[in-house]
Amino acid sequence: MPAVQSLVPETAILERPPAAPAGLPCLVGLDRAELTAALAEIGQPAFRARQLWHWIYHRGEQDFAQMTTLAKELRAALAERFSVARPDVTKDLQSIDGTRKWLLRCDDGSEIEAVHIPEEDRGTLCVSSQVGCTLTCRFCHTGTQKLVRNLTAAEIVGQVMLARDKLGEWPSPKDERLLSNIVMMGMGEPLYNYDAVAKALKIVMDHEGIAISKRRITLSTSGVVPMIEQCGAELGVNLAISLHAVTDEVRDVLVPLNRKYPIAMLLDACRRYPGLSNARRITFEYVMLKGVNDSPAEARALVRLLEGIPAKVNLIPFNAWPGAPYECSSAATIQTFGDIVNAAGYASPVRTPRGRDILAACGQLRSESQKERAADRVRRLAAEAMA
Ligand code: SAH
Ligand code: SF4
Repeated sequence: MPAVQSLVPETAILERPPAAPAGLPCLVGLDRAELTAALAEIGQPAFRARQLWHWIYHRGEQDFAQMTTLAKELRAALAERFSVARPDVTKDLQSIDGTRKWLLRCDDGSEIEAVHIPEEDRGTLCVSSQVGCTLTCRFCHTGTQKLVRNLTAAEIVGQVMLARDKLGEWPSPKDERLLSNIVMMGMGEPLYNYDAVAKALKIVMDHEGIAISKRRITLSTSGVVPMIEQCGAELGVNLAISLHAVTDEVRDVLVPLNRKYPIAMLLDACRRYPGLSNARRITFEYVMLKGVNDSPAEARALVRLLEGIPAKVNLIPFNAWPGAPYECSSAATIQTFGDIVNAAGYASPVRTPRGRDILAACGQLRSESQKERAADRVRRLAAEAMA
């Protein structure tokens, strides 16, 4: 389907960012085998890699000199060759509701976002998987951003490490964590960057490190059908599907990837998701767009579509952005829609918008910062012209 292939310009995605010009190679993002190999290169046995793993991922230590279970000479040798750096934070914003958002700059200058959402019984970090996104969902601001590249595993794990630093949550606590859950719902389509996402999540799940269990991790996809089964079999994380429509006609427009993997094919992959049970349901995300997908008839059609799938439905009030082609449904419409889904036995919470005052919604802060820089440029050019 050529029309659809052009929607997914995979060649436009750089696999790796250019290396930092003068920076030392960073150990964050290495898995156990790579860490062991890095140490073997400087003549160290495998058990040292286990100790180093503990310092990096359990203790969050950034200074080799403080890694006191390692010999002094080894600490010095490591400091000469490696770093345990974090991404640069260019903005650190806290909302009045406690939501915190970090705008992070990668080595190549591109910017990504991570958002921490504290709740009574948990704290969730929303993690990005790509700079921008090649999929052009019509209601999504990230999809309008031109520059796209895959994040490396280091950059994905780096978001979690940075959040732990900022929340003061090292060593990795067992209970009552401020960062207890992860959702791959930031910028980008995680299943278009599966290898790096899988590597990063395996590091995050490792019991002797950051140790966030697969039950507390949710990966959201717009429906990359061929990768869904592997994701479940290999990672066993919770799955969220950005459904947003009940007919192919409407979904083709909202989520253009639907033209390649239509609703029936997507739901079929969901039915076969490894580990699916009533205790481990798939979340179906449904953004509420006024007059587009929010009628009672569509709520009833949604219930029929989900029949036989252990599911919950997450109704998301549309978060409008400047120039967006849609509006959010009214509270009453969302309520009616939710009641119908609920009455059919599906939990259907309405996602409360969080952090609106700090532009916490996907892709907004990064665009804001780009706008700012553009404004700076205009001011500079104007000043130069006046001189
Ligand atoms: N690319 C993945 C994950 C990132 S988007 C995906 O699409 O699933 C995370 C969720 O936010 C998705 O359900 C997405 O459809 C939704 N979303 C994107 N823009 C939104 C907006 N402006 N308002 C409300 N939800 C939005
Ligand atoms: Fe990409 Fe997800 Fe946004 Fe669609 S909703 S453009 S898949 S980030």
